[in-house]
Amino acid sequence: MNRETELEVKYSNPELEGEDFEGKDVVLRYGFGPIPEEHRNKKIFFFDIDNCLYCRSTRIHDMMQEKIHEYFKTNLSLTDEDAHNLHMKYYKTYGLALEGLVRNHQVDALAYNAQVDDALDLKSVLKPDVNMRNELIRIKKEQGFDFFWLITNAYKNHALRVISFLGLGDLFDGLTFCDYSTSPITCKPMDVFFMNCLSVARIDASDSQIMKKQYYVDDSEINVKAASRLGFGHVIHYVESEQDYEVLKSTPDFTQYYSIDNNDDSKIRIIRNMLDLHTVLE
Ligand SMILES: [Mg+2]
Repeated sequence: MNRETELEVKYSNPELEGEDFEGKDVVLRYGFGPIPEEHRNKKIFFFDIDNCLYCRSTRIHDMMQEKIHEYFKTNLSLTDEDAHNLHMKYYKTYGLALEGLVRNHQVDALAYNAQVDDALDLKSVLKPDVNMRNELIRIKKEQGFDFFWLITNAYKNHALRVISFLGLGDLFDGLTFCDYSTSPITCKPMDVFFMNCLSVARIDASDSQIMKKQYYVDDSEINVKAASRLGFGHVIHYVESEQDYEVLKSTPDFTQYYSIDNNDDSKIRIIRNMLDLHTVLE
């Protein structure tokens, strides 16, 4: 087996058995990395997944919150109110509710993942998105990207499920996920998580000229700001809701990170629709 075959990750979604559409089978050429050494410092587009490759209006985030709530209630034997308060406390303290569960209750993170993310009924809300697929194919060709790389705070199972349901499974070269089996858990927007992702994608993060060639899109304000500080040359913030857009524009450090007229490529660019991605890439 050669090096590339060893890295490759394939996933056939059992919930899509019998269905036939492009991109339903996931093939990640370089898996979870690292990309072979000979492909060092290529031009890569890094993509967030949740609420980015699909719309927030699918309400998957709400479905997830309900599952987490149920987990707290059932596994820690709490009332609704206590479950809610502890969930919020851990989320605010650690950035991930799971981190609080692992630290304070010795919860098995992978068992938690099975009961929360992997139990989400994604099939009922995520459909093959031909428009998104065409947008990604267009960008890769027109802008000459070497690789597309996924970077998510979810565990790998969730990431693979999502892109298969969306019919985007064959468009990415690799994935960096939040490894719930490690302790402490690292995730976005921690520098160490981004640096690990850049390392497995073979990008020399200390070389500012190389970093200027890299692209990143995410729907999270703290994540795009972190990427911008780390020197990604092209950072795009997908802001779906009008309310979030208005709040964002009134944040005190808005002009430090974003340009007023959204045309300064040295700053974070905002898009309101992922299908407009090609308009901010020049
Ligand atoms: Mg997201």
